[in-house]
Amino acid sequence: MSTIAGNLQAVEATIQVACEAAGRPRSTVQLLAVSKTFPAEAVLEAVAAGQRAFGENYLQEGVDKIAAVAKALPDTRLEWHFIGPIQSNKTRPIAANFDWVHTVERLKIAQRLSEQRPFALGPLNICLQVNISGEASKSGVTPDELPALAQAVAALPNLRLRGLMAIPEPQDDPELQRVPFARLRELAQDIVKSGIHLDTLSMGMSSDMRAAVLEGASIVRVGSAIFGARHYE
Ligand SMILES: *Cc1c(COP(=O)(O)O)cnc(C)c1O
Repeated sequence: MSTIAGNLQAVEATIQVACEAAGRPRSTVQLLAVSKTFPAEAVLEAVAAGQRAFGENYLQEGVDKIAAVAKALPDTRLEWHFIGPIQSNKTRPIAANFDWVHTVERLKIAQRLSEQRPFALGPLNICLQVNISGEASKSGVTPDELPALAQAVAALPNLRLRGLMAIPEPQDDPELQRVPFARLRELAQDIVKSGIHLDTLSMGMSSDMRAAVLEGASIVRVGSAIFGARHYE
């Protein structure tokens, strides 16, 4: 078995055990394999092992990889999620190449994605990135500003607002890891109470996926536990 296939099995086992501990069916958690910095060949190995959803952070790298994988596997339907920071002049290729965007934190970006989404592809799935670590993080809408942003994004025609996403401050203690995830779940519940349908909590990475599943994650974004350590140039 390839290393990636073995790693995928281990991650799958972690998710299953966490689902059992949480009393949740395994089918309520989607594994997003974060392939940033790894070549198309690594994605092909993961696909051969059964993985179908992939996350990318860097636009050009992601677009090139999507094309390379599509060329190698023209008949395999994959799901691509954009999970990196978004520059407002780079929204068009995101809207044209990805199925999901997890990192919307401003209305202007959402408006551009809606305007630029090719109609034939159907609505683009959106998560709003929330800053739940306060001053420590510069990314994400603040909890105070979240309800108004959710209202406005939910009204855009070519987007489908699915839920919330967060990247908490790294934390070693498994119990403390749960605190920001619980906070994100509560913020989503408040939005649902206001009448906006949400079905997604994108939270949890290699080192805290168990805590995230215990607090209701519906997408865990796992990179290094599947593909190995990343080497940035
Ligand atoms: C890189 C990245 C991940 C995966 O992180 P790992 O610790 O390698 O699992 C998940 N989410 C986002 C937004 C990322 O940038």
